[in-house]
Amino acid sequence: MSRPTQAFIDLQALRHNVSIARSLAGTARLMAVVKANAYGHGAHAIAEALSSEVDAFAVACLDEALALRERGIQRPILLLEGVFDTSELQAAAAAALWMTIASDAQLSQLECAQLSQPVHCWLKVDTGMHRLGVGVEQTSQALHRLRNSANSDGAPTLFTHFVAAEATDSAETKTQLALFNTIETNGPRSACNSAGIIAWPDAHFDWVRPGYMLYGNSPMTGKHPAAESLRPVMTLQSQITALRDIPAGDTVGYNGTWRAKRPSRIATVPIGYGDGYPRGAKPGTPVLVGTQRAALAGRVSMDMITVDVTDLPAVAIGDTVTLWGPALPVEEVASHADTNGYELTTRMPARTPRIIVDGPQDD
Ligand SMILES: *Cc1c(COP(=O)(O)O)cnc(C)c1O
Repeated sequence: MSRPTQAFIDLQALRHNVSIARSLAGTARLMAVVKANAYGHGAHAIAEALSSEVDAFAVACLDEALALRERGIQRPILLLEGVFDTSELQAAAAAALWMTIASDAQLSQLECAQLSQPVHCWLKVDTGMHRLGVGVEQTSQALHRLRNSANSDGAPTLFTHFVAAEATDSAETKTQLALFNTIETNGPRSACNSAGIIAWPDAHFDWVRPGYMLYGNSPMTGKHPAAESLRPVMTLQSQITALRDIPAGDTVGYNGTWRAKRPSRIATVPIGYGDGYPRGAKPGTPVLVGTQRAALAGRVSMDMITVDVTDLPAVAIGDTVTLWGPALPVEEVASHADTNGYELTTRMPARTPRIIVDGPQDD
């Protein structure tokens, strides 16, 4: 038997989540964000599965886009941060990528470049994130320059990014939206990430840019009815490969940080931080053995974890262990490791095989 640690990627759940994003977004076109290896799910498999479902893709950088093009993805692909130099711009134009212009420097670079064909541009406006984008007061001038540049193809799309759309009453989002609405343009507009799609219908405009929700987890702080029917795409599983009984008072794992308060049964599972399970997960973090909850005991090692299964009758070597998935939200696991679900799936390393399935995995 080979090592049982695997991440199942459920394309049926993915398509279901896209249909939820679509129905929430109404007439807006849908740009699926597949940056960072589709948040760890495998960019090529995700993009291929979504090619006939979405209008465009978005990635963070040129290499991510070219990798998709090389594997046959034909849809428009937006570079969310634009390019870092002129040679990248030329490569992007040759691959018919869509270009973010987020600064005066990127705009000048576009105007001066010799390109094999013009690129379609998205002009990013900084309405409060203060990370990327031209200032609101510079926007009409920048739009004017884009419309007059032979290197810019078609009407530029105007877009911005929210600071805190996951809070349904966020004052920042209201301020950002009001600022964005002051900008005059006759071209398309876009503002929403997943949380915006779910909670800010007045911000849907012409394009929405869902990432996290497509992978089936809620980006919202707290419960939100529109997020409840999302279905997690990734199920991270392994198996129990060893079981031992230890007396009260003995410790488990590195540095002996977990001490048995009673005679305990400890299961060893071959998944660790080298497989994408967070080293920061504290004792007590839930894991599923079969369908039953048990708690992490002791530190997460590189290749293994140990689980207190004292209260689970009939546990056996070979039992399936689920680290996260439909029955155990990644957000819940993340909350025991001082992080969020975005980071947990995105950090899934190449070492963990992704197994593509069409439908839920049970044990
Ligand atoms: C990553 C990203 C998104 C997607 O955000 P989610 O919260 O994952 O939906 C949308 N727009 C921009 C500019 C991004 O960088």
